[in-house]
Amino acid sequence: MCVCPFDALDFRILELSLSTTYLLVVLTMKPDIELANQIKGFLEEEEGMRLFEIASKACKLGPCLEIGSYCGKSAVFLGAACKQNNSILFSIDHHGGSEEQQPGEEYFDPDLMDPQTGRVDTFRAFRITIEKAELENTVVPLVCGSKTAVQSWATPLGLVFIDGGHAYETVYSDYKMWVDHIINGGYLLIHDIFEHPEDGGQAPFQVYQIALNSGLFRELPMTRTLGVLQRV
Ligand code: MG
Repeated sequence: MCVCPFDALDFRILELSLSTTYLLVVLTMKPDIELANQIKGFLEEEEGMRLFEIASKACKLGPCLEIGSYCGKSAVFLGAACKQNNSILFSIDHHGGSEEQQPGEEYFDPDLMDPQTGRVDTFRAFRITIEKAELENTVVPLVCGSKTAVQSWATPLGLVFIDGGHAYETVYSDYKMWVDHIINGGYLLIHDIFEHPEDGGQAPFQVYQIALNSGLFRELPMTRTLGVLQRV
């Protein structure tokens, strides 16, 4: 005679409670803010949480894509949203640092120099971030310029986040190259929008205006310097 303490109903209840626990864990997944605060980068926590909020909706429409990964700070927020919805974040960066991050420039960080090559290399820091955030199965790094990545691109996107080089030609071409890949209802996010020249560079703001005047988007409230547009 079986002396097993559980019968079929017990197992069914156990199975149900395990799947409910799993569901609750997935539903309550939040970005690792403590980790994000330790990552080098130029993104405020409030902006990061807005990225998470928008990406949580966007990734139900299609994968998300960011231009300008740097050390992975924004990927922690965007990736957490994608992970909880079983979606993917493509993260593009040549990882050689932007113009203003080169030796002698305003945002140069000697910690990010590769001693072997004598060049800026942010990819190592990026990979460490992704590993710490447990996003290895969610974030797909594309180590190249955005112009190279777009050449064979055919996947409609739920979100494009432009935060790469800040020269006008770079921001404008990132917009022009990727705008047609955004699904209707999807989002275009642009970082470092400064309306007044005394607050910061004007290129992202100018491109934001071009996007807005194209008639392709409706404007949603900004969070600090993060512009949010939804494709209509
Ligand atoms: Mg930025």
